[in-house]
Amino acid sequence: MNLIGEHTDYSGGFVLPMAIPLGTTVEIGLREDRRVRAFSANLEREGVCEYTLGSEARGRGWLDYVQGVTWALAQSHPLPVGFDLRLVTDIPLGSGLSSSAALEVALLRGLRDALALGLDDVTVALLGRRAENDFVGAPVGIMDQFASSLADDRTALFVDTRSLAYERIPFPSSLELVVINSGISHSHAGGEYRTRREECERAAALLGVPELRDVGPEAEPRLADLPEPLNRRARHVVSENARVLLAVSALRAEDPARLGALFYASHESMRDDFEISIPEIDLLVELARADADVFGARLTGGGFGGSVVVLARAGRGAVAAHRITAACAAQGGGTPVVLLPAMTSG
Ligand code: ADP
Ligand code: MG
Repeated sequence: MNLIGEHTDYSGGFVLPMAIPLGTTVEIGLREDRRVRAFSANLEREGVCEYTLGSEARGRGWLDYVQGVTWALAQSHPLPVGFDLRLVTDIPLGSGLSSSAALEVALLRGLRDALALGLDDVTVALLGRRAENDFVGAPVGIMDQFASSLADDRTALFVDTRSLAYERIPFPSSLELVVINSGISHSHAGGEYRTRREECERAAALLGVPELRDVGPEAEPRLADLPEPLNRRARHVVSENARVLLAVSALRAEDPARLGALFYASHESMRDDFEISIPEIDLLVELARADADVFGARLTGGGFGGSVVVLARAGRGAVAAHRITAACAAQGGGTPVVLLPAMTSG
């Protein structure tokens, strides 16, 4: 789940994701032939889907993520045998919480263990991304796979997506994360994500830099000369990179008010400049803003649906989440689901 730094990773920028206690489990049974037989408990009606290693072919829906992984491995770590696979996840699919990266990373880890592939965690992330970019055909950056492979739930993972240098920043105990799924799902293989990426590449070309990462906040006035909407797209990425750096220092200083203000600013930038939010998500953010136990809130993930992340006072996350979702339902904002803090029974 990304704390801040949205749509910056395919421009070589900064991101600050963190793991949350949701996950994907794989069970693998090695075979004696080269068949792969895959079953997802989340997509039960699809039944068992099969293919042969070396004959991966795009266009089979969720199986493409599995095929993408074996296809990506074939180039550097060819598998000696096929396998039976059972997958299950408690991450809602298409909700901005990286279920696709979780699938890729879980499968890569499972195969690494079953076949002693000797892959390090950064290589796992890179292979997962290659599967998603070059096989599935979703033009995502490295953040999701990097977070799935390297993040934990006590520290925020500050990543320079150009150099892949990373640092773990302790998450203050005075704060608690709330994650609310709007229930509206998106697809990253879809058109809008790709359009944003192309707009960023065009903006960088017009500015004469390799990537928007190369434009510092001091160059912001120059962005106004770009044609619409590239000016606003570039302003989002440039200002978002600056906000990630400020968020890292706010985390280090344990300054919830400063961190929260950056969350709101990030949301406004995604809503107005990058145009990846939707009314239901904007409503959740506004309801969070009105809550006394909340410091900040924003859309998290690629957008066009998905989830919001809310920064709450420690110990107050559950009540704040309840107030926000109840008010949302009362105002006709659908039936959002609280994913974090996890409901405890009894
Ligand atoms: P996100 O990564 O934000 O959840 P994506 O559109 O990138 O959204 O990926 C969602 C897709 O990943 C699903 O539509 C499905 O094809 C695949 N997927 C993820 N997890 C699973 C799973 N446990 N079983 C089957 N398919 C899955
Ligand atoms: Mg994804």
